[in-house]
Amino acid sequence: MFINSIDKIIKITIFTFIRMKEKMDHLAFLKLSVEEALDGMRAGDGGPFGAVIVRRGKILGKAHNTVLKSHDPSAHAEVNAIRNASAHVQDHHLTGATIYTNFEPCPMCLGAIYWADIREVYYCAGRQVAERIGFMDKHLYEEFARPTQDREISTSVITTTDMDRLLDEWDLLEGKILY
Ligand SMILES: [Zn+2]
Repeated sequence: MFINSIDKIIKITIFTFIRMKEKMDHLAFLKLSVEEALDGMRAGDGGPFGAVIVRRGKILGKAHNTVLKSHDPSAHAEVNAIRNASAHVQDHHLTGATIYTNFEPCPMCLGAIYWADIREVYYCAGRQVAERIGFMDKHLYEEFARPTQDREISTSVITTTDMDRLLDEWDLLEGKILY
């Protein structure tokens, strides 16, 4: 009975220790994303955004926002970090990886995270904070939740036979890789 109790205490202690270590790791990678954001912000590369991609404790890629530096509206920290990590591992999927980003990903970056097959996201500050400092992440989430015809951007569908031919050829294409 006594041995069993000690055994239980040891197990709980080990479990708590592992949980604490995991939490510390998450915090360390989030701090790194803030550092990355700070570097980019101070260099004038873009907004105060940084991201780190980690798999099994190893950093696959990290980046900050470079929208201003590269004159690229899609050069958000998460997209840049995904590009960096994917090039590093030479794979368009980052299966099993976690992304740490100082801000909640915007809808574009969240889409890129899905495309990259990253299934875990940690962030420090939400879309409300991003809104407060002048960015439209929250607005975009609200906009995308509206029906297409109620959005600010006009979207039209026009079918063409060229498109039909493209689809026919795609259907018949052998050895195509789906992602
Ligand atoms: Zn983004």
